[in-house]
Amino acid sequence: MKIIYSDKHKAHAGAKEMRYDQMIEMSDSPERIDIIIEGLANAGFTELVQAAVFDIDVAKKIHSPEFIDFLQRAYPLWEQEFGPGGFATAYTFGMRGMNQRPNESVHSMLSCYTFDVCVPIVEGTWLAIRSAIDVVLSGVQAIKQGESAVLSLCRPPGHHASQDLAGGYCYMNNVAIAAQQYIDQGAKRVAILDVDYHHGNGTQRIFYQRNDVLFVSLHARPEQEYPFLMGYQNETGEGAGEGYNVNLPMPKGTAFNEYQKCLATAIDKVKNYQADVLLISLGVDTYIDDPVGGFALVSEDYLELGAMIGELALPTHFVMEGGYAMADLGKNVANVIAGFSRA
Ligand SMILES: [Zn+2]
Repeated sequence: MKIIYSDKHKAHAGAKEMRYDQMIEMSDSPERIDIIIEGLANAGFTELVQAAVFDIDVAKKIHSPEFIDFLQRAYPLWEQEFGPGGFATAYTFGMRGMNQRPNESVHSMLSCYTFDVCVPIVEGTWLAIRSAIDVVLSGVQAIKQGESAVLSLCRPPGHHASQDLAGGYCYMNNVAIAAQQYIDQGAKRVAILDVDYHHGNGTQRIFYQRNDVLFVSLHARPEQEYPFLMGYQNETGEGAGEGYNVNLPMPKGTAFNEYQKCLATAIDKVKNYQADVLLISLGVDTYIDDPVGGFALVSEDYLELGAMIGELALPTHFVMEGGYAMADLGKNVANVIAGFSRA
């Protein structure tokens, strides 16, 4: 399987995030991608391909121009105020009834276009965001050229980012941009299966009123877990999109015997949709030792998870999202791909 990569993601580094009452190093570190590449190589997956450079016209169909402008301008504006080397982060958020869209100060834009304290912006953040789009669009190109499956090693991840809101380590929504590209190039039905521990709130919001993209998400119950305010089972889509959004939340502590039943339901939904192409938002923060997650999957479970996805026998595009248990991250991702490849 082709593994698509760009080393420009490394520029997105050096920021901290707030975790409860402490400032800590960001869990989404550049080392994550190195570890995944190493794990894949150990399992015999060595076909590493550099991403080509694409323009971002298709991304402008997913994200608002004002939001993209904010992502590009935030760090330079921050640096003018605070000097070089820091990171831009919000201290207020646009909440209920606060609907202005200012673009004058970096603080006003951070308040408007981010929804949590997990999206710091350093000097290299835009370069990394931009490269993740190249990585995902290179994957689309490979599938269009006849590959049956690819893995796009996107970093930063994307599934928490919506049209005009960044959060949860995510700035622009890579998997959504890929879905739009498949449709623009002729696909009639695209399915996105999100197996990250956290609900893909950004992807849900982007496609909530559409029936050309089915979104199915397996995740921790939002009553207990980030992003808290979305990802409930009764969110099923709206208007033309009614019935094309499927949330399958599970309680914290869920192990694979229960997880597998939800995965089988999700896979049935994808099968019934008769998708032309399947995108997987691949998070392995469902792992038992993940510092950010709270499920109890073990490394061997990812073989079966991959195999169940493989049995759909669809053109399949894996897009990297979360996974932060550094000791086993590489092995867990490699197991998904190995299980898939054996199916
Ligand atoms: Zn996650």
